[in-house]
Amino acid sequence: MAPPRPARRRGRSPTGNTEVVHPSPPSGNLVGVPTLLPRSLDGALGALADDPALTVLAGGTDLMVDVNYGRRRPAGVLSLRRVGELRGWRVDRHEVVIGAGTTYTDLLDPGLARLVPALAAASRTVGSPQIRNTGTLGGNLGTASPAGDTLPVLFALGAQVELASAAGGARTVPVAELVIGPKLTSLAPGELVTAVRVPVAAGPQEFLKVGVRNAMVIAIVSCALAVDRERRTVGCALGAVGPVPVRDPAVEDWVTARLDWDGGRLSHQSVAEGFGRRMAAASRPIDDHRAPAAYRRHAVEVLARRALERAWGSS
Ligand SMILES: Cc1cc2nc3c(=O)[nH]c(=O)nc-3n(C[C@H](O)[C@H](O)[C@H](O)COP(=O)(O)OP(=O)(O)OC[C@H]3O[C@@H](n4cnc5c(N)ncnc54)[C@H](O)[C@@H]3O)c2cc1C
Repeated sequence: MAPPRPARRRGRSPTGNTEVVHPSPPSGNLVGVPTLLPRSLDGALGALADDPALTVLAGGTDLMVDVNYGRRRPAGVLSLRRVGELRGWRVDRHEVVIGAGTTYTDLLDPGLARLVPALAAASRTVGSPQIRNTGTLGGNLGTASPAGDTLPVLFALGAQVELASAAGGARTVPVAELVIGPKLTSLAPGELVTAVRVPVAAGPQEFLKVGVRNAMVIAIVSCALAVDRERRTVGCALGAVGPVPVRDPAVEDWVTARLDWDGGRLSHQSVAEGFGRRMAAASRPIDDHRAPAAYRRHAVEVLARRALERAWGSS
């Protein structure tokens, strides 16, 4: 028989525009933890300014795992679920602006997938339909896991991340300045990720991932590649083989100089092979319970080579 639904006590925040829910037992590990449910970004930022110790919850697919395992015990929760401004995407000249509260399922929208194919490819590999319906882009950045699937894509694209706080207003930082270590961001107290800006694709993009199985799997290695035919550049970032996604500008320059930009084909197979070897040398994998470093380095070589072959062969 299904357990009884928890009783909930509802109230209003002092400003009156944010609903406050006090769950009552038995409702799991957030029992008794006040949860603020603002309906606007201003409301959310105001609540965080009043209490920077609030724990931000978007989809909860990372946070609730930590809570359930006792790794985090929030004193108060700020849920972004009702903040519609954080969800959705739009085109702003040559960029796509994607709200932090946009779910993986939203990222699979064919209209968006045409503009940022690698992000859609990465989203397709995340968790299960339930996780994709709930987990968000902002949550992936907030967790800053070395294996977070959107992160190599955002690094390869040189994404800019929009942040906001009540005290400091809005600012924009390159993703590499936000994700600064394993599960570590440079977010200031009271600050939220509000959106991500990426360029509209001007060439083929790829996202490839190796895990222990085909679905519901954390990356052992991932590789994102973005070719910009207009600027004649290649961006490549690796996931799960360093404390943060790994890019190597020297390797990107090496391959850019060897591509047949006018012909649109790989001039020689040795270019893809050399690219794979160089990206493997740039990676900084560790041995852990998922895979030994040597396997990861080998997987990087294969994925980087394959990504370049697919991107360049598909023109
Ligand atoms: C079964 C399962 C499978 C999974 N599979 C994958 C996978 O294949 N690939 C993958 O990358 N991840 C996977 N995950 C992890 C998780 O789903 C993702 O990291 C997801 O993007 C987290 O988003 P969320 O909205 O649920 O974040 P939440 O859990 O709500 O929050 C995560 C962190 O980000 C912070 N945060 C959230 N939003 C913001 C914001 N706007 N501004 C500032 N901080 C914020 C929160 O405070 C918290 O610290 C999986 C998780 C589970 C449980």
